Amino acid sequence: MPIDLATLYLLVIGTLLAGAVMIVWERKGRSGHARSLDVWAAGFVVLALGCTLATRRAMLPGIWGAALSNLVILSGYLLVLDGVAALGGRRHVGASLGFLAAMAGLWVWGGIAGRDIIWIYASALPIAAVCLATAREMLLNRRLAGLRAWRVVIAVTGAHGLLYVARALVLPEVMAVYGQRVVALASVATMYGGVLYSMLLPMALLALLREEAHEQVVQRSQTDYLTGLGNREWFFEKGAKAIMDQGRSFSLLAFDMDHFKTINDRHGHVTGDAVLRAFAHVARDVMGPEAMLARIGGEEFVALLPDCRAGRARIIGLAVVRGFADVVVPGPDGAAVKATVSIGLAEMGADMSLETGARERDLAAFLSAADRALYAAKALGRNRVELAVCGPMTLASAG
Ligand code: GH3
Ligand code: MG
Ligand code: MG
Repeated sequence: MPIDLATLYLLVIGTLLAGAVMIVWERKGRSGHARSLDVWAAGFVVLALGCTLATRRAMLPGIWGAALSNLVILSGYLLVLDGVAALGGRRHVGASLGFLAAMAGLWVWGGIAGRDIIWIYASALPIAAVCLATAREMLLNRRLAGLRAWRVVIAVTGAHGLLYVARALVLPEVMAVYGQRVVALASVATMYGGVLYSMLLPMALLALLREEAHEQVVQRSQTDYLTGLGNREWFFEKGAKAIMDQGRSFSLLAFDMDHFKTINDRHGHVTGDAVLRAFAHVARDVMGPEAMLARIGGEEFVALLPDCRAGRARIIGLAVVRGFADVVVPGPDGAAVKATVSIGLAEMGADMSLETGARERDLAAFLSAADRALYAAKALGRNRVELAVCGPMTLASAG
């Protein structure tokens, strides 16, 4: 059953207004991205207003109806672009106003003689440019890149832009062959495109922000609040997955601050916290981004080093021991606070088959081996690295 143009316009206006209401609703319930949400809500209302004007354009004299509705619709698309750009901290206000002024100039300059030409073809080009610019803004947003809705926003705005490119550049060619009747078909096709845009884009934008918020919550739940390193949950989830890669060798370093209770007792808990942060800093600096470094307990840290045999891991461990021993943390009353760390090291060679059973048990067994070596490091005088061998558990001094 074909749907007439007026019904399609009503459908687009209704879905645009529903989209704006959904966005206002979302805005009330969250603090972030207020500017984008405000601008999108305004954008969808302005688009709805422009479509309403378009249905009534014949009632206004001369070029007024066509020009006004076209400029209002263009403003709506520009607002959507502005909201997307704001997600990446960018703004286009000056360029947008210039763009609108140029389009208004085109209507004044060529409108009376060429009203229909501008309405049917020329007005489509700025809309295409703005929609493609919106897709580009989203494409450039590396923070949101990879989220599922990120792709949908790019696809919807990009496809909408291409539809308008076709209207501006392909329609004149088709009309030259098939005559005036294709204009009505093109209008219906444009409005079907409008229905899809007005339904999908608000939903995709809202899904994008929710997906981002969800990622942030997950990230926070896996981060240690004091040091910014991964926490225990993160380590056991990611580490267990990592060591399932049977073809790779791993080394595991278990760290424990020496006499940390004394540091707290002598200099206070706040200074103790500063020492923990200083350790995290040194460990991250020495081990680099490849190491899966986490704080798994009060003053206990671990690092899983992929593709790293015990010999190299021991050198890395010693570099952490020495680097940390050199650090001076300012304490209360100008005290210079120094601390040391002991390290237990276990290795899992590429050829070693893992124990059967749950993934976490494998990592737990690996950590137990490193822990046993850590106790040995404590017993042998602290501020050192001791090596265990995973598999047949043996200990060898490396301090
Ligand atoms: P050892 O060399 O044998 O490891 O001695 P230690 O004093 O470090 O060992 P112990 O496990 O007895 O003490 C750990 C201390 O770490 C006890 C606790 O007060 C402190 N601690 C645990 N979590 C935190 C924290 O988040 N901040 C601070 N400042 N201290 C913490
Ligand atoms: Mg401890
Ligand atoms: Mg300790």
